[in-house]
Amino acid sequence: MFDHLLGNLPGLVYRCKFDQDYTMLFLSESCKKLTGFDPEVIINSRNKAFQDIIHEDDLIKVWKAISQAMHDKTRFNITFRIKTKSGQIKWITNRGTGIYHDESLDPAYIEGYITDISELKNISGELSDREKRLHEVVKNVNVGIVLLEMNGGILEANKAMEEITGLSSAELIGKKPTQLARQLLKPKDVTNILPLVLKAMCGQQIQPFKVTIKKKILEIRTAVTGPKHVTAFVTDITQQKEFEDQIIQAKIKAEESDRLKSTFLANMSHEIRTPMNGIVGFTELLRDPQLSDEEKERYIDIIHANSEQLLNIINDILDISRIEAGRLGIFPSPFDPYVLLKNLQETTKILVKHKPINVVLKFDLPIGATIDTDKNRLQQILFNLISNATKFTQKGYIELGCHRINSHYIEFFIKDSGIGIRQNAGQKIFERFRQVEEGDNRPFGGTGLGLSICKSLVQLLGGSIGYVSTVGKGSQFYFTIPDELKSFK
Ligand code: ADP
Repeated sequence: MFDHLLGNLPGLVYRCKFDQDYTMLFLSESCKKLTGFDPEVIINSRNKAFQDIIHEDDLIKVWKAISQAMHDKTRFNITFRIKTKSGQIKWITNRGTGIYHDESLDPAYIEGYITDISELKNISGELSDREKRLHEVVKNVNVGIVLLEMNGGILEANKAMEEITGLSSAELIGKKPTQLARQLLKPKDVTNILPLVLKAMCGQQIQPFKVTIKKKILEIRTAVTGPKHVTAFVTDITQQKEFEDQIIQAKIKAEESDRLKSTFLANMSHEIRTPMNGIVGFTELLRDPQLSDEEKERYIDIIHANSEQLLNIINDILDISRIEAGRLGIFPSPFDPYVLLKNLQETTKILVKHKPINVVLKFDLPIGATIDTDKNRLQQILFNLISNATKFTQKGYIELGCHRINSHYIEFFIKDSGIGIRQNAGQKIFERFRQVEEGDNRPFGGTGLGLSICKSLVQLLGGSIGYVSTVGKGSQFYFTIPDELKSFK
């Protein structure tokens, strides 16, 4: 009955001698199930010693553990491998104790209970593999992850966290988040986030918050990840922020362009309608057969001036669209800049003949010098700047000229004693459709295209443009271009 009862146990009960063969004196029936051998075969090491069943790599370990326990008179609990009759490797645990001689107290026998834990071993192996894989993911993910003890310090920190903080994981571990904040953040930021950190460390839910460390913008989220643990996730959102800022800027710019375009269209209609009305009105008047020759001449002059104004507007629009499409050709050829500026001076005089304005030429290059660039485009730039100067100047002077600034570059300038430009207008006046005075009451008309065309043309000629101005005193526009465009291409 006793044998039968023991045989029903899931494990194997044994008694053996304390010798190197583990000579078995008793083995329960489960021996067959566990090892494949009948108990009789192993008892008294009849055909097989138990020692021979133990996996050879574990033999020493088992002997050492058992000997130690026998010597210390303690229980032992060893996990090791055995090889069954069919050659299968099984993991077992052997829990047992020594039986000692009554008088000498020397170890005599070992009694124990062996269970098959192969299945458990497999599961725990799988689990530890899975844990290793997860650990690898956490280690290498580009989000900083910190495991914290609730109300305590950092227990673990991943690689991304080391990179974000510039601290090694050894420096991070053990640190309290409040200490870390004081070490890495500006005092003002520390004061702001401290209440949140303390809340999160007690296991309370908090809203994600942002901090800046070494110019990096970080978003921090926390989650309670166990009864005693809080995990913080730190994401570097610097690029995302930059991207958002760019989008906002682009949106502002798009809205601004839209507004400018609408203003431009309104201005344009006005700018076209005025000379058109002049042309239509005065051609109508010309029909009158009673007109004197003098009157006819005057009307024709007016019609001509209006037509030219119209043509200028259309040319500006064509130029802008060609510039935008990158289809504006540049054709350099050598010419005398003095002749060009002299002619422009004469034209300017005609333009301001009804105003008390002195038109001065300041030519500071050797007489007869030539420059090699696109003459027509240079003339167009200068003429645009001159017409602005004549438009915005009522009295005083308009000066045009040029001088060399270094061995390759020449600077041209148009200076006037006109109304000047507000300081805050900045470089914006070179943008398309841009006028300093906007709205219906623009006193000087115009489309806001002139300076934008000038800037693009100067760039196409290899130079750059700028201006200085004082409100009420006047403005000076200047640009530099290489004297030999070809060598700069
Ligand atoms: P437009 O003259 O057709 O309005 P521009 O692009 O030539 O367009 O000039 C843009 C703006 O720059 C003008 O509306 C004016 O406000 C300012 N501006 C340009 N040149 C001068 C100048 N010489 N004096 C004062 N303001 C000027």
